[in-house]
Amino acid sequence: MRLGEAAKYGFIADPVVLSRLEARPDDAVAGDPELLADVVARGVAVKADLVGRDEREGGDRALLNYGHTVGHAIEAASGYDVYLHGEAVALGMVAAARLGERLGISEAGLAQRTVALLDALGLPTGGVRLDPAAVRAALGRDKKAVGGGEAGWRFVLCERPGRARIVEAPSPAAVDAAIASLTAPA
Ligand SMILES: [Zn+2]
Repeated sequence: MRLGEAAKYGFIADPVVLSRLEARPDDAVAGDPELLADVVARGVAVKADLVGRDEREGGDRALLNYGHTVGHAIEAASGYDVYLHGEAVALGMVAAARLGERLGISEAGLAQRTVALLDALGLPTGGVRLDPAAVRAALGRDKKAVGGGEAGWRFVLCERPGRARIVEAPSPAAVDAAIASLTAPA
């Protein structure tokens, strides 16, 4: 599990993952075995819990897609050879946090905390050299993200670290702004 995915589990379900990574980002990047074993175990537990709940109630598995809606679009728009998957997901989490704040769903400061942590982990948080329109077009082609055009866009947004939910059909203008923000220098 790469660090971007580990952070994802922190944002959607287990804020302890975030505090552990925030306390020692350099050790995480250096591959400190104890720290990584700890955050990976927590991520695996989150995944098992969400998948188990999904089988009982349905829907929670989708939270694992946090950061992946825009992340997949960046991978597709850039031809899959510019960003590693974890890097694209990092950018997607930044976009999701900004979108969430803009919509009043995410607590204020979430985007800033996201950028600070991912940056400390050596992951990209901006400076994307892509036409936002190309990313948006790729978003529209992502079958997981759409259920029939723009009106069907579904995003996983983080309300506060450790709590996420699905948001149906956020306004295209808000989505565009979140994507465009990624082209600003990190
Ligand atoms: Zn992933």
